[in-house]
Amino acid sequence: MGKHTVVTKNKKNFDENKFFPKKWLGQNFLLDENIRDKIIKAASLTPNDILIEIGPGKGFLTHALTKIAKHVIAIEIDNDLSQSLPKNLGSPNNLTILTQDARNTNFSDLIQNQRKYKFMGNLPYYAASPLIRKVLTSEKKPSEIIIMLQLEVAQRMVAQPGKMSLLSVFTQMFGNPTIIAKVKPTSFYPRPKVFSAIVRIEVFQKPLISQKQQLSFFNFLKIGFNTPRKQLHNALRNGLNSSSNDIKLILNKCGISYTQRPASLNLNNWYSLYKILESQIPNMDKDIEIS
Ligand code: SAM
Repeated sequence: MGKHTVVTKNKKNFDENKFFPKKWLGQNFLLDENIRDKIIKAASLTPNDILIEIGPGKGFLTHALTKIAKHVIAIEIDNDLSQSLPKNLGSPNNLTILTQDARNTNFSDLIQNQRKYKFMGNLPYYAASPLIRKVLTSEKKPSEIIIMLQLEVAQRMVAQPGKMSLLSVFTQMFGNPTIIAKVKPTSFYPRPKVFSAIVRIEVFQKPLISQKQQLSFFNFLKIGFNTPRKQLHNALRNGLNSSSNDIKLILNKCGISYTQRPASLNLNNWYSLYKILESQIPNMDKDIEIS
């Protein structure tokens, strides 16, 4: 069957069931079997895999995951969907469905004494950044993250010095992200306004930033990227209540020129700055967005 035919057939199922997607929950359902296969291939799944899937929806991806993996733990916020999901998928006994907000879920608790797990999903786009931050900093980290999200967010995750943002630095401190494929709006129902991307992140099991430092490192980046178009010394001086002279000396010590803007620093620059300035970082809100 051609690609177009597969998408049309899946879209017809939605029409016949008179299902109304909830826009506010980021419900853009995947229809395209070729894209689903690319997600599965990117995850290199085996019968030993334990998976956490965010937002199973109507189970288009979940169904394929349960056919290969040992166990799938699917977290869905929408009770209407999670109630009907097991029956729709033929009640597979390797599927656990939790009806809850994945942003408030402790992934380490779900995994308990399993050695390894993979984190997957066609993410609800409104919650993609908080979910990525949450899973990258969870105590028990997945070995890999294979997700679909907005292309623009994916491009920021993989950006290199010159174009880096808080999201790029934070993601790359905790893992190695790659864009696997770009995905057109026509692959979904309803169609999102923007292109999407499949991203794989190989997660570092022992990142440079320790469990204890994660929040202060995040807050430090938040300060550093506060005025991204201005030279970095301005943001550091204001955010850390320091003198121009102190900041000048510290930048110099880290091999960073006084005129550099935050987007131009590399990961080593950020890490060495953080190590020197760690004790000066104020306590800030825990729930700030990555962007
Ligand atoms: N996996 C399905 C697919 O690919 O067709 C659905 C993907 S859809 C982009 C996102 C799914 O995440 C929806 O089913 C939505 O109800 C669910 N969702 C939205 N916000 C959520 C949250 N905070 N926690 C868990 N699930 C959420």
